[in-house]
Amino acid sequence: MHPTIQISVRPILDYYGKCPRCGYPAGAAETVRKSLDGRVEFLVVATCELPCGWYGPAARTTMTGGAAADDPAA
Ligand SMILES: [Zn+2]
Repeated sequence: MHPTIQISVRPILDYYGKCPRCGYPAGAAETVRKSLDGRVEFLVVATCELPCGWYGPAARTTMTGGAAADDPAA
């Protein structure tokens, strides 16, 4: 008996990360797993958009939270 788990994957459109292998901008998707226990797990996986084959777990790095180097040079 397997409890039904609901899995949904959605792309993170404003992901702002790079592939650590080739330096090309990577895309990311967030996987949300809901189990019948009421547990919800979030998993962010980044994938290189070039066929270098890299993918891996990623932090949710989006434009919000990135400190823009804003230096009001006087
Ligand atoms: Zn790459």
